[in-house]
Amino acid sequence: MGKIIRAIDEWGAVRVTFADTTDIAKKAQSIHHTSPVATAALGRTLSMAAIMGSQLKSPDNSVTLLIKGNGPLGSILSVADGNGMVKGYVQNPLVDIAKKPNGKLDVAGAVGNGMLSITKDLGMKEPYTGQVPLTSGEIAEDFTYYFATSEQTPTAVGLGVLVDRDYTVKRSGGFMVQLMPAAMEEDIDRVEKNVSKISSVTQMMEDGMSAEDMIGALLEGFEYQFLDESEYEYRCDCSMDKIKRALISLGAKELTDIIENDGKAELTCQFCPEVYTLGKDELEELLKSCKK
Ligand SMILES: [Zn+2]
Repeated sequence: MGKIIRAIDEWGAVRVTFADTTDIAKKAQSIHHTSPVATAALGRTLSMAAIMGSQLKSPDNSVTLLIKGNGPLGSILSVADGNGMVKGYVQNPLVDIAKKPNGKLDVAGAVGNGMLSITKDLGMKEPYTGQVPLTSGEIAEDFTYYFATSEQTPTAVGLGVLVDRDYTVKRSGGFMVQLMPAAMEEDIDRVEKNVSKISSVTQMMEDGMSAEDMIGALLEGFEYQFLDESEYEYRCDCSMDKIKRALISLGAKELTDIIENDGKAELTCQFCPEVYTLGKDELEELLKSCKK
C-alpha cells in the first residue's frame, strides 16, 4: 500500500506532500514487465498521479496524467482517483536504452520531447485540461513547470524510482512542495534552501528516513503540522460493463466491421492483465444499443 502524508506550515504558506509509492511501482512493474527505464518513467508518473489524487476533494474526482513524448517509450499515462486508486501504463514497456554517464537511468532520453497533459475530472460538466511542453523529460521538472505555468502555483517536485538488479522496484517515492498565496519572500527562500539541501527521494528512503523525517527536512525552519494521511494502491476498475460501453461508443459501422471480420472481440485492459472476450451474439446485442 502506498502511503501519502501531507503537512502545512503554521501560516498556511507552504504545503508539503510526501508519498511512499514503492508498492505501487512494484505492482506496475509486475503487471507490465517494464524494463528498468520504463519502470522509472512509469513509477515517477504513478507517484505524481497518487500525490495529485490525494489532493482531490471527492472520491469520484480523478486526475489523468499523459506524457506524450517522441522518445522510444512512447506515451505514459497514469490515472488516480480521490479514493486511493492509481493505475497506469507505458506504451512501449520493454524499451531499454543506455544509462547516463553517471550510471543513472536515462529517463529523459527514453521520454524525449513532447507534451504533458493533465486532465482533472472534478465532477463538473467538462473536465479541466492543462497542457505544457515537456521541458526536461525527467518528469519531476516537467510537473514543476506545469504547476508554475498552468496552475500559477510555485511548486517543487521530486520523484524517484530505484530499480534493483533483478529489475524489480526497490524504492519509489515522491514529494511536492507548494507555495500558497500567503507565502512571503522569506518563506520562498527557506523552501528553496531546504529543497536544494536534500538528496534524491530514493536516497533519503535508502538512508532510512521516514515520510515524517522527509517532510521535516523539507519544512526545516518552519512551524508545521501534519494535515492527513491517505493510502493509495495500484488497482484497476475495469469491468465488462465498461468494455461494452467502449465498444458501443465505437459506433455501428465499426462494430459491424468487427462482427463481420472477426466474429468476436478480445480486448486486454491497458492497465491490468484482465482479458475480455465477447462472442458474436454479445456483439450483435451491443450493435442494437448503437442503433437506438
Ligand atoms: Zn483493468
